[in-house]
Amino acid sequence: MKKTKILLVGACGQIGSELTGALRAKYGRDQVLAADIRERSRVTEEIQPYVKLDVLNKSALLMLCREKKITEIYLLAAMLSANGEKEPAIAWQLNMDGLLNVLDVAVKCEMQKVFWPSSIAVFGPNAPKQLTPQANASAPSTVYGISKAAGEYWCQYYFDKFGLDVRSVRYPGLISYKSPPGGGTTDYAVDIFHKALSEGNYLCFLKPGTALPMMYMSDAIRATMELMDAPAEQINVRTSYNLSGMSFTPDGLGEEIGKHIEGFRLDYLPDFRQQIADSWPDSIDDQQAREDWGWEAKFGLEDMVEDMLENLVRRGYFAKA
Ligand code: NAD
Repeated sequence: MKKTKILLVGACGQIGSELTGALRAKYGRDQVLAADIRERSRVTEEIQPYVKLDVLNKSALLMLCREKKITEIYLLAAMLSANGEKEPAIAWQLNMDGLLNVLDVAVKCEMQKVFWPSSIAVFGPNAPKQLTPQANASAPSTVYGISKAAGEYWCQYYFDKFGLDVRSVRYPGLISYKSPPGGGTTDYAVDIFHKALSEGNYLCFLKPGTALPMMYMSDAIRATMELMDAPAEQINVRTSYNLSGMSFTPDGLGEEIGKHIEGFRLDYLPDFRQQIADSWPDSIDDQQAREDWGWEAKFGLEDMVEDMLENLVRRGYFAKA
């Protein structure tokens, strides 16, 4: 088997900027090439080796993979739910053509594996809200969700038709102290920490009581690595795995933050993202991922809030006196 050489597309984003480091810690710095549409001069030293790449430019992608002898691609470039509703045609093009380019190039280059994340956005208002089951990816109501549902079927198709070892998880909303969120409906769950520390209050764009599935970034990175490390014969789902971390509401999160920041005030001004949130599950059943490749989340709400605040303060965000 060829030595693993990874291309990570979308390396400057919320997940990419952390996954790049995790993959390099495992495979070595030079074995993981970071790529994104950003100019090289705007990319931090940490992310090097880096190449500017538009995933929609298929010939450039193919040339790069051949030249660098890439054996695995992690595709993280996408337009997320809230931004997608503002620019539906562009979201569809990036999310669909980007994936199809990667799948095609992976087949042409006889790659060993591909990782592409789906999302809880594949579930629409008709899916069961509580512990939404694995096999219920039905009627998504956002462009983003439609593109993820279609993408899941393309992954299954490339596995069935070409034997491409493509693997996927449906990430919930992701929370990190290292990287800012990229225009999704769950972004409030990161922004709230920054505002709580800098101003002692936060104006939330979702209503109290809006429960959504969420996950701490360290769990999400570990899930990705564990899925990609699992023996192929254990991967029984070739669309995308349900993945659960924790579930909470804005008021529940606010209450937990208030235990650490005295006088923290949370107000609400719901916008168009409320409708997106209302169409998604409250919580996710990830039994299949547990059975197939041993998935288990480590962080719940309390540990996550404590760890977020501790790390943000360490990085220079100071609690209001
Ligand atoms: P992000 O928006 O933070 O990052 C996406 C990156 O892709 C950006 O750095 C952007 O510059 C890059 N990009 C955009 N267009 C490109 C192009 N044409 N060519 C190359 N690069 C391009 O997104 P993220 O939050 O890191 O999400 C990564 C993946 O995970 C996406 O597929 C997303 O749908 C999925 N996901 C994320 C979350 C979450 O909460 N962050 C939840 C569910 C699923």
